[in-house]
Parts: sequence; structure tokens; C-alpha cells
Amino acid sequence: HADLAMYQGKAAGRDTLSFYQPGLSEQLRARTQLEDELREALAHRQFELFYQPRLAGWAGRIVGAEALVRWRHPRRGWVLPAEFIPLCEAVGLIRELGRQVFEMAARQQAAWTAAGHRLRLSVNLSPTEFRDEGLLADLQNTLARTGCPPRMLELEITESMLIDGDDRPLRTLQALQALGLSIALDDFGTGYSNLAYLQRFPFSTLKIDRRFVQASPAERPLCEAIVGLCSAMKLRPVAEGVETASQHDWLLGLGVEEFQGYLFARPMPADEFEHLLGGGVALPGEGREISAQS
Ligand code: C2E
Ligand code: MG
Ligand code: MG
Ligand code: MG
Repeated sequence: HADLAMYQGKAAGRDTLSFYQPGLSEQLRARTQLEDELREALAHRQFELFYQPRLAGWAGRIVGAEALVRWRHPRRGWVLPAEFIPLCEAVGLIRELGRQVFEMAARQQAAWTAAGHRLRLSVNLSPTEFRDEGLLADLQNTLARTGCPPRMLELEITESMLIDGDDRPLRTLQALQALGLSIALDDFGTGYSNLAYLQRFPFSTLKIDRRFVQASPAERPLCEAIVGLCSAMKLRPVAEGVETASQHDWLLGLGVEEFQGYLFARPMPADEFEHLLGGGVALPGEGREISAQS
């Protein structure tokens, strides 16, 4: 694109070389620097997991959590995944990041299980990890090494990963299931629209994307239909991105069982999450109380 822009600029008789060149090289330099920093960060284990509680029902019992990766950057503080996951994917670092993420999640889940908590912990998989031949062996090794019981671990995948055209996604999901892991379909409704795969693939949970959860009243029938689909297909519906009490009330009325969102809590470090589990801390959201199940 940059070449094309320079070419078009020249053809138009403008001095685009001096206009585009610095921008481009600056961008490249920033990208290369970020890539170097990411390699450093992986080597020095600067990634950590935050946990966002998943709650059930009216009372707001914590029944699980989603693990969300954060980069503890030496100068910039906490960095969000949107800033580094795409580059990790592009430069071949996502597998190593994914291995570290799963290892941290499995260790944490083993510790929580040992402490008597029964939480469903979910971990996100990127498309590259999902396609990787080594994924199953990696997961199996990590489960064995950490002593994490797979039954309460859930892998979150997205619709786009299922459209490879052959039967590999199905075989991968079946193999994951055979390891004892369960599968959640994340961001449901934002991707591929062929619903046939819901029947073909072994999902246990369907996470309704926040764009439906946050829909205006006029757009609500779509979300209602998704919840109906879940009950017909025996999938556990989880609403993500619940920000208001009225969204929560409406979804409860529809039969949604589990909720995540800023109404209850943002993703937080493990020690804060444990504080919630241990203490029955009240969270914001119209006096809704949050408490631990154990
Ligand atoms: P996701 O899996 O759909 O995760 C939900 C995102 O929504 C998280 O952003 C979470 O902080 C945010 N969120 C939760 N509640 C609310 C709410 O009420 N309102 C709004 N506006 N947002 C809410 P986060 O942590 O920045 O992660 C973004 C995406 O990065 C994730 O989307 C997931 O696709 C990816 N990701 C995060 N952690 C990992 C990881 O460990 N591995 C991989 N491969 N991807 C990850
Ligand atoms: Mg997710
Ligand atoms: Mg999601
Ligand atoms: Mg997502």
C-alpha cells in the first residue's frame, strides 16, 4: 500500500516520497520495537491473567471467571490484549503467549480447586492456536503438570475458527472434549451466520456478544431468539458485557443463566478475585450483592 501510495503520489506530481517515507519507517520502527519488547516480555514472563467473575441468577453467586491476559509493561503499566495480541499473531509469538496463558490459568484453577472453590474458568484461544498441530499435546502436558482438573476448564473459541472447510475444526473440538475440557462459543452472533454448525460442534456454552446484550429495546427480539436457540440446543447461555441493571433484569427474564459485565465487576488480578470469593464483597449495580459459591 505504501508503494502504491508513493507511486500514485509521483504520478500526481507531488513529492510523496518525502511525505510517506518518514511515516512508514516510523511505523515500522515502532512495530519492530514492540516486537522486540514482546519477545522480552515472554522471556521474562511479564504477562499476567486478570479474572472477570461470571455470576449466576438474581443473587449474583460467582460460578466462574474468564481469564483475560494483561501485559505488565515495565514503563507503560498494564497493557490490554488489543494492543499486543494481533502483533503476536502476525509475528509468530501467539503460540508461546498461549502456552503461558494456559499454564497460568491451569495453575490458578488447580489452586482454587485445592482451596475448595468450584469455579468454571474459561480461557480464550486465538485462531492460530486453535489451528496449531501442537495444541492438544501442549494442553495435555500442562494439565498433567499442573494437576488441574480439566472438567471445570472451558476454552473460548469464535465462529470464524470453524469455517476451515474441512473437518479439522470438528476433530480438534472433539479431541479437546476428550481431554475433558468444555468449549464455549465466544462473541456469538458477530461472525459466521450459518447456524448448522451449532448442531455439529460439541459446545457447552454460548456467550452472547455484548452488542446483543446492550441492544436497544427495538433490537431485543434478536437476543431473545438467541436465548431460545440455546434452550433448544441445550447450550448454557452466558451474557457478556452486562453494564446496566435493566439489561440484567431483562436477560434474567429471558432465561439467561450466567452473566459477565462491568455492572458486576471488571477483570481484576487474582488476589482481588480471591478477595471477592472469600468475603462476599458487595459490588456496584443497584445494591446487587455478589457472593461466593464454595
Ligand atoms: P473476549 O474474549 O470477548 O473478552 C471480553 C472482553 O470484554 C474483555 O476485554 C473484557 O474486559 C471486556 N468486557 C467485560 N465486561 C465488559 C462490559 O461490561 N463492557 C465492555 N465494554 N467490555 C467488557 P479484554 O480483556 O480487553 O480482551 C479483549 C479480547 O482479547 C478478548 O475478547 C479476547 O478475544 C482477547 N483475549 C483476551 N485475553 C486473551 C488470551 O489470554 N488469549 C487470547 N488468545 N485472546 C485473549
Ligand atoms: Mg472470551
Ligand atoms: Mg467475548
Ligand atoms: Mg472476542
